[in-house]
Amino acid sequence: MVLPTDKKKVLIVGGGPSGLVSLRWVLESQNYTGTIIEQKDDIGGQWHYKGEKQFPVSPRNTSDALDDPQNAENTTTMYDDLSANLPFVLMEFLDFKHKKDAYTFATQEQMHEYLRAYATHFKLWPNIQLNTSVVDVRPEDPLLPDGESGKWIVETHNLATNVFITEIYDAVIIGTGKNSYPYQTPIQDLEKFQGKVMHCKYFKNPKDFKGKNVVCVGLGPSSADLALLLSTEANKVTVCHKFAYGFKLGLLPSNVDELKPIKLVTSDGIITENDEVVPCDVIILCTGYGLKFPFLDPSCGVTVIDNKYVPNLYKMTTFTKRPNLSILNMCYRSPEYILMEIQARFAVSCLDGKTKLPSYEEMEAAVKEEEDEKKKQGIPISLWFQIGEFGVGVWKYFWRIAEEAGILQEFKHGPLLEQMYGTIILRIFGKLALYKQDKVKIVNDNTWEVTLSSRPEFPDSKPEKIIMTANPDFTATVEKVEIVDP
Ligand SMILES: Cc1cc2nc3c(=O)[nH]c(=O)nc-3n(C[C@H](O)[C@H](O)[C@H](O)COP(=O)(O)OP(=O)(O)OC[C@H]3O[C@@H](n4cnc5c(N)ncnc54)[C@H](O)[C@@H]3O)c2cc1C
Repeated sequence: MVLPTDKKKVLIVGGGPSGLVSLRWVLESQNYTGTIIEQKDDIGGQWHYKGEKQFPVSPRNTSDALDDPQNAENTTTMYDDLSANLPFVLMEFLDFKHKKDAYTFATQEQMHEYLRAYATHFKLWPNIQLNTSVVDVRPEDPLLPDGESGKWIVETHNLATNVFITEIYDAVIIGTGKNSYPYQTPIQDLEKFQGKVMHCKYFKNPKDFKGKNVVCVGLGPSSADLALLLSTEANKVTVCHKFAYGFKLGLLPSNVDELKPIKLVTSDGIITENDEVVPCDVIILCTGYGLKFPFLDPSCGVTVIDNKYVPNLYKMTTFTKRPNLSILNMCYRSPEYILMEIQARFAVSCLDGKTKLPSYEEMEAAVKEEEDEKKKQGIPISLWFQIGEFGVGVWKYFWRIAEEAGILQEFKHGPLLEQMYGTIILRIFGKLALYKQDKVKIVNDNTWEVTLSSRPEFPDSKPEKIIMTANPDFTATVEKVEIVDP
């Protein structure tokens, strides 16, 4: 492990994309160096998956996660045949691009390869410790007043050697992700169902549902992807959700339907709020994930409300009570690679003192102001980390933090990212059956194209191309052209 003694040490928990981009920028710092501690046998986070359902974890980190009857900690959330739901331009870090024209929607293996190549390119490997769980993090001086950063006592468990080690770190960045602990909202009479009930975390392969009638609960990336995959094997897939809009806006595979939310469950199916009776064999809860940090001692002061919201996070990143602790990638419904990079750069810039953090009181006041605004709008706490919806809302947050981290000028293509994200989200919810055949092409630094796929059996799908051009004033011009002879 390369840790020169003249530099302060940052513990980075987790070797997923959040951890990797953090380490890359910590290593650029004049004042800090860092180590990623990753419990799995490779980096990549969710993208490290070789068909295995389980992986070893420290027993110190296991618990009855969110009343989950199965052990969420050591079950992978990934599944077979997954390809990204966003094109490569939204799934890469600023200074390390995917291979040109290799794919539009990378497969899980290609994303894993990309992340490993990132680690190699930026020489991160010597500062990564695999097969090791962080099992305890606590402040060296728990009596420090709020707003003051002290050192951290960190205990790790080497899963290969079964050795526990305690070390002192000067700062902590948490990149343990938000897709590990199943989150489930109550459904009336669910316990009466005689078929199988499962959270989407435990979905691994559509073949397990051959010929079955499946109900997916919820409208989000998981139900969109599962509906598509299940449609290839299941007899019928019904997506039940509360939104007025939904996939119906567009094209669905012929054996996929969407209905109102479940009113109640019977022994052999569900009844929707519109009193439609849907017999089914399996109910899959695509109801999202909760947040949990089993390795943080209560003396750290980090809490989680309603399994979904971490209070005292300035800019949804910096822990106000101890500003040398950052938690990344808690926000959702946003393009995560951009989120992770901006938050990591913000966290490192704050540690380095390049970005001056306000006082504890000012940071708390800023957090409270945002919380009050959400309360006023009637947004439940469980949605306070949702920074966007259908591609809208996220960018204001992104560009504000990027500016504070001093990296806004590195996002010259920012308006193209915005347009691309909005376009793809509309395609997912408008043309679910088609969007993964869309092709994204980088014409040059300022111009990107999306060729929209079309199929004759879907009369309202036209062969079209969307051309996006970045303008010097941080806007983009978007042109839609019909492809005459596809
Ligand atoms: C099925 C699925 C599909 C997805 N599809 C997309 C997509 O198409 N596009 C997209 O942008 N995003 C997608 N995501 C979101 C995905 O989570 C992000 O792309 C990205 O992986 C988040 O990175 P992360 O580093 O924050 O968290 P993760 O990838 O979850 O990595 C966290 C890492 O922390 C490690 N860890 C946790 N606790 C400890 C501990 N105590 N000690 C040591 N190590 C620990 C874990 O082992 C893991 O390696 C998908 C997620 C899932 C689950």
